[in-house]
Amino acid sequence: MSIPIYTYDAIIVGAGLAGCAAARELQNAGKKVAVITKVHPLRSHSGAAQGGINAAFSDEDSVELHEFDTVKGSDYLADQDAVEFMCKNAPETIRWAERMGAAFSRKPDGKIAQRPFGGQSSPRACFAKDRTGLTLLQTVYEQAYRVGVKFWDEWYAADIIYKDGKVSGVVAFNIRDMQLAIFNAKAVMFATGGYARAYKINSNAHANTGDGLSIVARHGLPLEDMEFVQFHPSGLSGNGVLISEAARGEGGRLYNSKGERFMEKYAPNALELASRDVVARAILNEIREGRGVGPRKDAVYLDVTHLGKELIMNKLPELRELAMTFLGLDMIKEPILISATAHYSMGGIPVDIDGHARKNNEEFIEGFYAAGECSCVSVHGANRLGANSVLEALLFGRFVGKTMVKDVESIELREASEEDATTALKEIEFLLNNNGNESVPALREELQQCMSANAGAFRSKETLQIAIDTVKELRKRFKNVRIKDKSKVFNTELQEALEFGHMLDYSLFIVESAIAREESRGAHYREDFEKRDDENFLKHTMAYMDKNGNISLDYMDVVLGKHELKERNY
Ligand SMILES: Cc1cc2nc3c(=O)[nH]c(=O)nc-3n(C[C@H](O)[C@H](O)[C@H](O)COP(=O)(O)OP(=O)(O)OC[C@H]3O[C@@H](n4cnc5c(N)ncnc54)[C@H](O)[C@@H]3O)c2cc1C
Repeated sequence: MSIPIYTYDAIIVGAGLAGCAAARELQNAGKKVAVITKVHPLRSHSGAAQGGINAAFSDEDSVELHEFDTVKGSDYLADQDAVEFMCKNAPETIRWAERMGAAFSRKPDGKIAQRPFGGQSSPRACFAKDRTGLTLLQTVYEQAYRVGVKFWDEWYAADIIYKDGKVSGVVAFNIRDMQLAIFNAKAVMFATGGYARAYKINSNAHANTGDGLSIVARHGLPLEDMEFVQFHPSGLSGNGVLISEAARGEGGRLYNSKGERFMEKYAPNALELASRDVVARAILNEIREGRGVGPRKDAVYLDVTHLGKELIMNKLPELRELAMTFLGLDMIKEPILISATAHYSMGGIPVDIDGHARKNNEEFIEGFYAAGECSCVSVHGANRLGANSVLEALLFGRFVGKTMVKDVESIELREASEEDATTALKEIEFLLNNNGNESVPALREELQQCMSANAGAFRSKETLQIAIDTVKELRKRFKNVRIKDKSKVFNTELQEALEFGHMLDYSLFIVESAIAREESRGAHYREDFEKRDDENFLKHTMAYMDKNGNISLDYMDVVLGKHELKERNY
């Protein structure tokens, strides 16, 4: 089979906010750029963001407060230089998005409206009703398209071309007919999104299988802080579909089966608007101690009835629709049932502020970049604040795109050859032809159940060891997989097998990194080490996988700054 080779200045994998924003910068500066995406750009998970995007520009707010809230929210693990960069450039990012055509909700005086979100000193989240992500993604995608970015929709990136410390392209196939192609470029950026699909109850799109992370990790390159997975307090009971923090931001309250507003116990000042890790654990604790509600007693009430029909219809219409569709409950009239849901990935491909991906603590990979949820820069540290990640994706996507414009001037193109597709081709052939007796859906179910039960919002050495053993066993069993569909037309069974392989690999990073971190910090809560331990663990995890699938751990210093370490109280 002959494999076509397409040549560009830059290739971007992922067409969410980060990928589209970067692509627009490159193309607008006259570079030839292509975006590879396994789903249509507008189906990227960015479009599901409901609540908002942060920027400090009101009279009561300041960039410094935004920085402080972000660093405190991160439980002091965020790199303060990156946080400063993000918060400083946030107001300009909002103005840019507006100039590009995004219509934000407004106050009666015509200024952009801002709503309160958890862990924030001032109402800071700009929004477009509760469809903020969709509004922004449509805008940025259209602008990228307008300047001539070439989108390769429904193409699946299976590998990077990585040799001698340099990335020079991507191997991908067309999901429609399995035609493999090589995309040769001076620079490659990953904007492949998050990895919460490893958990049974999660808020993420089906595409969020963390492919980008495992593709990188299989080349022996590091992943940073993978143990930090955010559990959002309010997923719909039973399926985890997200009810945005906007519901609590607008004044929603949480109650247990005794009718107690239980956040009074856990966060007496911030109540429902404490940081997400705090509220999620409080909910799960109420349920564990027998004060849950609903038919399975595995939920708590979220009540917004006191806000009134007009506010709900104006500011939370989508959330109301979701609760009616999935639970048959109308939040104008009655409380709805919610519980914590796996939501966001703080960890990812380690990068510096300019988006250069790291080879290790000291060195960088030539021609390789990452931005958005798949990257770890790290602005969220151990816990992300609501409305900071749409900001991260859009802002860093744009700025990393600008960095790439400059960098490609001096990077020499290394010519690709058909051989560069060997690994991807072998993997596909193996999956299509292997004649074992394991099925992907059954293995995936076991993985997700195991991760939820043993590596969730509460974890301990004991549960994490179970998770490590299970993931390792599942990796062995996956070698014995069988795919029934042998065709080459929209072979979704094959795609799901490739995705599951990625889920297995990065899950091992999550659990191995988590068992070694013997402290509780942000979203990583160890029942056997309940306190934060700055003396031993104020550091980023850098994890590597060898050819046999064994993980080794290293650590990297946190960039500290003017916001001094304190105990975190809300
Ligand atoms: C329900 C929900 C609500 C949210 N609400 C908010 C909010 O209100 N405010 C906020 O700040 N954050 C919110 N977030 C988080 C935020 O939306 C995301 O972190 C952010 O949008 C991620 O953007 P991204 O560009 O990094 O990735 P995504 O938008 O997830 O895009 C990933 C892209 O990668 C592509 N891709 C992945 N793997 C491959 C592959 N192998 N080959 C080809 N393409 C691939 C996909 O096709 C997709 O285009 C929310 C998240 C969820 C799940």
